[in-house]
Amino acid sequence: MALPAHEILKKYFGYDHFRHQQEEIIQKIVSGKDVLVLMPTGGGKSVCYQVPALMLDGICIVISPLISLMKDQVDALKSNGIAAAYLNSSQNYKEQQEILDSCYRKEIALLYVSPEKLISDLTTIVQMAKPSMFAIDEAHCISAWGHDFRPEYIQLGLLREKFSHIPFVALTATADKVTRKDIIKQLNLKNPEVFVSSFDRQNLSLEVRIGIKPKQKLIEIISFIRKHRNQSGIIYCLSRNKCEDVTSALIEAGVNAGFYHAGMSSAARAKVQEDFINDELQVVCATIAFGMGIDKSNVRWVIHFNLPKNMEGYYQEIGRAGRDGLPSETILYYNYADLTMLNKFAAESGQAEINLEKLKRIQHYAEADICRRKILLNYFSENLEDNCGNCDVCKNPRRHFDGTILVQKALSAIARMEEKEGAMMVIDVLRGSMKAEIMQAGYNKLKTHGVGSEISAFDWQRYLMQMLNLGILEMAYDENFALKITDRGKEILFGKRKAELTALQPIVRKEKKQELR
Ligand code: ADP
Ligand code: ZN
Repeated sequence: MALPAHEILKKYFGYDHFRHQQEEIIQKIVSGKDVLVLMPTGGGKSVCYQVPALMLDGICIVISPLISLMKDQVDALKSNGIAAAYLNSSQNYKEQQEILDSCYRKEIALLYVSPEKLISDLTTIVQMAKPSMFAIDEAHCISAWGHDFRPEYIQLGLLREKFSHIPFVALTATADKVTRKDIIKQLNLKNPEVFVSSFDRQNLSLEVRIGIKPKQKLIEIISFIRKHRNQSGIIYCLSRNKCEDVTSALIEAGVNAGFYHAGMSSAARAKVQEDFINDELQVVCATIAFGMGIDKSNVRWVIHFNLPKNMEGYYQEIGRAGRDGLPSETILYYNYADLTMLNKFAAESGQAEINLEKLKRIQHYAEADICRRKILLNYFSENLEDNCGNCDVCKNPRRHFDGTILVQKALSAIARMEEKEGAMMVIDVLRGSMKAEIMQAGYNKLKTHGVGSEISAFDWQRYLMQMLNLGILEMAYDENFALKITDRGKEILFGKRKAELTALQPIVRKEKKQELR
């Protein structure tokens, strides 16, 4: 006779109380119902299937996409006295056979399997390991609308038909509304109960810094780290090279930093991860891969050196800070060069349309002049009534001004270049640059050449971005990112409509404020 849920929680996990919704989720599963669990990272999803696994007769088969994490997950369970094992392609035949044999002898309660392994060896696996339930972790991977679609997940849809009498639980930390619906459909979940936890993490401050040059970013980050002596933090970078460069710069400045990316050996990665967890490394510069499945509660800050690809990734990454609930800071650096590069990646990716759309959403977030938390939560279909008071927009409300003339200058330059040029060239023309490309194209002879020289190139970038956001301009990704004037833009150009712009935040002042904190 199995122990009741709360006793299992106490005995194996050492906790006295369930967190919000965990108990209800567990009861539903034990009673045989399908459930979809949406909980932010660190919310406690694993307990939701690990406890039922110990209550139900048979084996809970956990489908998990990351082979690299499986071993850690299983080791953690074993050290809690839970009989767990994993099966994946990293093991040889004999190892796999031994695992299956112990499943057959009913010595295993939880079996972690990669989706490809499960599907390719389904008959053998279920003959040896009689399933009591299926838990599909990172369930958003099954949806092409999600941000991390994995084709190998698609075949999991056939499981439901073969195992009609046991509960299925799908879990994810990131799924917008469309993705949720799609997960249910793709997995053929039966009338599932959907549990959505709040994604609001009020202890995380949100800040976006726009248009800062890489060198300046480093200076700011080093001074930030000096002010956060001995506090752990993560810096996410877009590329492996960037990770290494930023790390070297930090080390040179006397910061105890290391890097982590997929190009390293797994031993080297494990070492960095361990040193970070044990507070022997203060800072890790990482690509997106870092932090998945690591459980470190005192990460005090997360910095995005580059713009993330989408809101889902951003939310997950900032979510690695402040898991202990204490105030933690997050800073996102955003500039035009990143956006251009990410646009190119997205445009060339397998799912260009969706990826471009997702990129647009994070771009809007970064450029927004309303409470950032409102936007973030809205993205996950959660409404925040009041402004949060803990983001840079709330702390520093924006001023608007009549930007009609400024916009007309830009639009007229773009029109005279026949809408064939990207932002950088447009800015060079507005600022009256005499670069070789400008002379060759004859742009120095345009009437608009130099009409915007009083505005810095950097501020022009930010204004152009606002114009994109306001639907005054469009970017033709398929024409080398040339800027095009929309109908709305034409009305402004011809004086039929005014353009309201948001005053740019003076970054110098922001820096001073930072020092006072
Ligand atoms: P997720 O998978 O949602 O990211 P985890 O399942 O890894 O989150 O849980 C995050 C942390 O919270 C873990 O350290 C876990 O042990 C802890 N935790 C889970 N449930 C509880 C609980 N009821 N009480 C206290 N801590 C919990
Ligand atoms: Zn706010």
